[in-house]
Amino acid sequence: MKIAIFANDGRLSQIVSQRLRQKFKDTHFVLDDQNPDIVVTIGGDGTLLAAFHKYSALLETVRFVGVHTGHLGFYTDWRDDEIDDLVISLQSDNGQSISYPLLDVRVTYADKQKPENFLALNEATLKRWSATMVTDVYIGGELFERFRGDGLCISTPSGSTAYNKSLGGAVIHPNLKVLQVAEISSINNRVFRTLSSPMIIAPNDWVTLIPARESDYLLTVDQNSFHGKKIAQLRFKISKKSIHFAKYRHMQFWQRVQDAFIGSEYAN
Ligand code: NAP
Repeated sequence: MKIAIFANDGRLSQIVSQRLRQKFKDTHFVLDDQNPDIVVTIGGDGTLLAAFHKYSALLETVRFVGVHTGHLGFYTDWRDDEIDDLVISLQSDNGQSISYPLLDVRVTYADKQKPENFLALNEATLKRWSATMVTDVYIGGELFERFRGDGLCISTPSGSTAYNKSLGGAVIHPNLKVLQVAEISSINNRVFRTLSSPMIIAPNDWVTLIPARESDYLLTVDQNSFHGKKIAQLRFKISKKSIHFAKYRHMQFWQRVQDAFIGSEYAN
C-alpha cells in the first residue's frame, strides 16, 4: 500500500508527521506523494480540504484518513495520540471505505472561453466585490427567483456544517446526495423578494446562476477563490464523483455534530 502524508504547517502537525513517517518506514509501507492509495492528513478539516484539492485527479482510487491535532473535526477520525492504532488499522486494511458526495461547479465565462469545472468538498460561494449582487436563480432549468444581496452559498452535505451552518443552513447527513443553497444577507422589502430560507435541492436537479452584470464577482470553491474573469453563468449539481475515506472505526455523524457544536455537558 502506497501512502502520502499531508500535514499543515503547525508545529504539532509537523512533529506528528515525522513520527508517522518513521512508523510507516518501520512497518514497510511505501511512502509515495505522487500516486498514493491512501492520503493521511494531519491538522484539521481545513488540512483535509487542501489535500482533497491536491489529489482531486486521483479521487477514483485514493482514500483519505484524517488525523486531527486540535479539536475533533468532521473529516478527521483520529487524534494525534492514536497514530499507533492508526498504523495497526492500516496494516489490516481490507479496502473498507465510506463515500461523501461532492459538488460539481461549472463556470461559463462571458468571453465564451471554454467552461471550467471545479469540484468542491464543502461548498462554492458567489459574491460581488463592490455592490449588491443581483443574480437570477434557476432550479432544474426553470427561473426560480431574482436574488439581491451579498451572495449565495451552495454546499455539499459534509460541507453543511461549515460556512453553510453559519448562514443558518440545515445540517445534512452526508448519506444524502443533495445540495443546499443558503443566502448570504439577501435584501427583502416591498420591492425585492427572495425565498429567504435555505433550500435542499434534489439529487437529480441542478442550480444555475445568471448574474445580472458580468464583472466584479468573487467565486470561492472551498478555500480557493477566483476573480477577475467575467462570469456569464454558473451551474451547480451533485458530482458523479465522490470522496472516499478509509473507514476503520465508525463515529456516528450526529454524535460528531453534537461533539462539535453542543458538547456533551449540554446534551441532557
Ligand atoms: P479555515 O479558517 O481553516 O476554516 C474555517 C473553519 O471551518 C475551521 O475551523 C475549519 O476547521 C472549519 N471547517 C472546514 N470544513 C468544515 C466542515 N466540513 N464542517 C465544519 N467545520 C469545517 O479556512 P480554510 O482552510 O480556508 O477553509 C475554508 C472553509 O472555511 C470553507 O470551505 C468554508 O466552509 C469555511 N468558511 C466559513 C465561514 C463562516 O463560517 N463564516 C466563512 C468563510 C469560510 P479546522 O479548524 O478543523 O480546519
